[in-house]
Amino acid sequence: MRKQIAAANWKMNLSFQEAETLIDKMVPECNNLGENQQVIFAVPSPYLTMAQAKVADQANVFVAAQNIYSKKSGAYTGEVSVAMLQSIGVDHAIIGHSERRDYFNESNQFLAEKVKICLDENIVPVFCCGEALPVRESNEQNSFVKQQLEESLFSLSADENQKVVIAYEPIWAIGTGKTATSDQAQEMHAHIRQQLASKYGEAVAANISILYGGSVKAANAKEIFGKPDVDGGLVGGSSLIADEFIQIIKALK
Ligand code: PEP
Repeated sequence: MRKQIAAANWKMNLSFQEAETLIDKMVPECNNLGENQQVIFAVPSPYLTMAQAKVADQANVFVAAQNIYSKKSGAYTGEVSVAMLQSIGVDHAIIGHSERRDYFNESNQFLAEKVKICLDENIVPVFCCGEALPVRESNEQNSFVKQQLEESLFSLSADENQKVVIAYEPIWAIGTGKTATSDQAQEMHAHIRQQLASKYGEAVAANISILYGGSVKAANAKEIFGKPDVDGGLVGGSSLIADEFIQIIKALK
């Protein structure tokens, strides 16, 4: 059965001390997670070791890098490799967040390489996809997201794909306070699952967690997560506020 996941994306926020205080407030709230529920903290790279130590005793709580590079090692100044994550016990990485696609020109093809190296080295990729406002306004969101999946994920085997967590994040809803309605989220998640089913079969598609991201907060999490194809959320702004994110964890199915 697929996992229900609350993933925090802290982006480039918080001092080390603030990050430590925040994670100390949140981790004890994960004590009562169901077997099928997970919490992930995607923290800035300098805080990965600290965060990993804080969650080490919790079976269903993980730390993620917000990005990795597509090569194993070498002369890539400033980049972080999956082997480095492994060496400190970190086992998840966000891949293809829209901010990286946009500000750092990350293409679907480049992201395919990043997803692949994660899987080769036992790091779970949290693969982000989603359309910008003009695409939604011209009602082309389904074909746009289909292309993102095809170009970044569909050269993987079924077995590999089952290890990927997908996050659907409509760009027009990220950090804007404008959330997709729960029906819009469900419609796209069903579309994504349908694409996975046509490529890999129903059983594989049913095993893949698809998170919604875009202005999730305590007040809307329950309704969005309640939809059948929504398996939790990738949360930016609200994950920086302990009480908000704790309520979001509690809203998981
Ligand atoms: C995100 O950064 O992935 C995100 C969804 O941000 P926010 O929750 O702030 O919209």
